[in-house]
Amino acid sequence: MNAAIEWLSSQRPAMQAAVATLVDIDSNSHDKAGTDRVAQAMLGWLHAADIDAEHRADPSEGDALLARLPGAQRDAAPVLLMGHRDTVFPSGTVAQRPWRVEGDRAYGPGVSDMKSGLVLQCFVLMALRRLPPLPFPVLGLFTADEEIGSQRGRVAIETHARGARAAFNAEPGRVSGNLVVERKGGATFAIDVAGRAAHAGVNHADGASAIETLARKVQALHALTDYASGITSNVGLISGGLSSNTVAPSARAQLDVRFCSLAQREALFERIRAIVDAPGVARTTATLTQTSEFLPLEREWSSELMQRYKASAAQVGFDVDGEFTGGCSDAGFTASLGIPTLCGVGPVGAKAHTDGEYCCLDTLVPRAQALVGTILGLAQALAIAPIHEACQS
Ligand SMILES: [Zn+2]
Repeated sequence: MNAAIEWLSSQRPAMQAAVATLVDIDSNSHDKAGTDRVAQAMLGWLHAADIDAEHRADPSEGDALLARLPGAQRDAAPVLLMGHRDTVFPSGTVAQRPWRVEGDRAYGPGVSDMKSGLVLQCFVLMALRRLPPLPFPVLGLFTADEEIGSQRGRVAIETHARGARAAFNAEPGRVSGNLVVERKGGATFAIDVAGRAAHAGVNHADGASAIETLARKVQALHALTDYASGITSNVGLISGGLSSNTVAPSARAQLDVRFCSLAQREALFERIRAIVDAPGVARTTATLTQTSEFLPLEREWSSELMQRYKASAAQVGFDVDGEFTGGCSDAGFTASLGIPTLCGVGPVGAKAHTDGEYCCLDTLVPRAQALVGTILGLAQALAIAPIHEACQS
């Protein structure tokens, strides 16, 4: 067994303690001090293992922590390990329900999405650090705004992922134990309609109802849903008007659309624009604003890595496959750059974004080992330099 993989087999207590440390730090996406503290804890582990890592002090939320293992060939395309330090839970959640373990399951805010995934990535870096350099660099990139749309995280990801040979995102492994090889992309839009106010009884005809225009558009937007091709279109929030006795001068809808491929995205966005631009009630106008976006992870970018991971998992003793989910993640950004990408490489977990969220602690070590094996496999496939079995320290 490779020395890095063997070392990991002794790290279960350390990994578990590290997850406990991160879970007990509130780190909502808007809690800058919290996501900073998560970065500080991770930096502490990485620096103690003599790994180059930096968290650029940035006064605003959504910044990135970058770790780097140099490669034997400095210019070789790197492998990218990704994760997000933020959670959906408001500050104060830790005080209400801190880290707790029942049998094999650990509970606490963000335990599977994705504090345990962050720990896994750190230990993968630490394990690889114990070997002579791989032919290529290995980067760890840990952002802090995934749960609110990765606006800044996307820039960091696309900067560091460009030209990478592979990307592994530490979203939780599925309940089935599977990885994620295919994800939908998704986007949100705001549709604002401006009309003319008028008294509903005195001079109704002088008004132009923004609500009526919006209502027509909502029907057209919902008609874009096509389950067979995986496209959904949902106006989940709507507001508008002044009072029941006023013709509505304004109205707003918030739209969420999901799609499976970049090709679908282009056509879908075109149709959304056409619906919003189409004439509504006379003297009303509608504008479309895109508010966020995640790109899809298409299977063509994950299938080869999945085969490698499957073989590596078999070597450490577990069987695994890839599956599809309609949920979005940062993995779509790397895949959409044409970078082979696997998602859901984190420890197995479930019920993310709820009080019942848990992580299966028994999967911490084997999944870290399988990921290390997959990366070593990429190095072997290159055959640029032999992989030494010797332990560095
Ligand atoms: Zn997540």
